Amino acid sequence: MTEKLFYRNPYLWEAGGTVLAVEKGNKSAKLLLDRTIFYPEGGGQPSDRGIIAGEGFRVLVEKVYGKDDVWHEGKLEGRLPEPGEPVRMVLDAEWRYENMKNHTGQHILSAVFKELYDANTTGFRIFEGCNKIEIDYPGELDWDMVLEVERRANDVIRRNLPVQVEVYEELPEELRKNLRKALSERVKPPIRIVSIPGVDVTPCGGTHVRSTCEIGFIKVVRFYRKSRKLWRVEFVAGNRALKYLKELLDDYWRSLDGMPNKNRPLFERVGELRGDVKRLEAEKDSLRRELWEWKARALLDNAMEIGGIRVIAHLEKAPLKDAQAFVVHLVDKNPNTVALIAGENYVIFAKNKGVEGISMNDLLREVLSKTGGGGGGSEVLARGGGFRASPEEVLELALEELRGRLSP
Ligand SMILES: [Zn+2]
Repeated sequence: MTEKLFYRNPYLWEAGGTVLAVEKGNKSAKLLLDRTIFYPEGGGQPSDRGIIAGEGFRVLVEKVYGKDDVWHEGKLEGRLPEPGEPVRMVLDAEWRYENMKNHTGQHILSAVFKELYDANTTGFRIFEGCNKIEIDYPGELDWDMVLEVERRANDVIRRNLPVQVEVYEELPEELRKNLRKALSERVKPPIRIVSIPGVDVTPCGGTHVRSTCEIGFIKVVRFYRKSRKLWRVEFVAGNRALKYLKELLDDYWRSLDGMPNKNRPLFERVGELRGDVKRLEAEKDSLRRELWEWKARALLDNAMEIGGIRVIAHLEKAPLKDAQAFVVHLVDKNPNTVALIAGENYVIFAKNKGVEGISMNDLLREVLSKTGGGGGGSEVLARGGGFRASPEEVLELALEELRGRLSP
């Protein structure tokens, strides 16, 4: 059993201890200690980081876990320690202190959600970027409601209230009735009750700051419905809140600076830009149609006649999708016309639907039987690719086939 010094004093950033057991990993080690200042992951609070050092070795602790026996895992530098050796523990104090601020901030936020909307917190997790809580609220949550919670939570912070922890072997009935969150059957004594006078009383196994003003401030950054009854609320607190808001503002100003018009608000500038894109798209479409007209005219001028039908054979540079859009347009607008188009790795055969006596799919299948490759289509439009022949050869084969079928 490891003695948990972080419960006696959560501000203990350094302490000595003794190794009880060691497990060797690949360039890493796991240490079981007789006492620890490292908080093991649990209750939404991530595990601590830091260094455990002894004579001739250091473990750079990245993961801490275990309920009664607390194991410390991380990269090993130097020799493998042995059971019985003394060690010095040093926490990543900033990481832990910010976790304490954000965790205590969650207590306050959850308490205000409960007080204002009778909404229970069913989940909580601290992340390096921001924290996430799940709120059980079957109705519609809106920004006015959330901002009221935020305002009251920040009032609690400013009032500089103490955060008190009491430990019970057996919970007094009076206290049990006042808990924000009913005690889970799974929680075995000793039971830690964390209270902020007049605000919150709740069982909790995490680490907390001593007074609310240490949290600095709380900002809800967004919220959304997670399921029918649950809402996810994301918030930041402590120095992490400043870092988060700095990143958000950097992003905001860089985006605004990238606009042709750099005046706020950004969402109006985005609206203008979207309008511009829409207008340019329409202009592009109209120019493309005009280009198609000219291109069609040039191709028709050079068309050959086979059995009384105008046949266009054209080597195309455009990608398949664009080429197909053009060909469909071309044969639609011009009666008595067949178009055979070959690109880098495709062919498109298309005909005006009034042309009789030849199916584009049959034509393609005939060509494929000589060149290999695959494809298919309908009476009026067929596409293929993967030939063992050049685009010129494929066109030549298709023309030969057409002549055979259409010439009297
Ligand atoms: Zn807590």
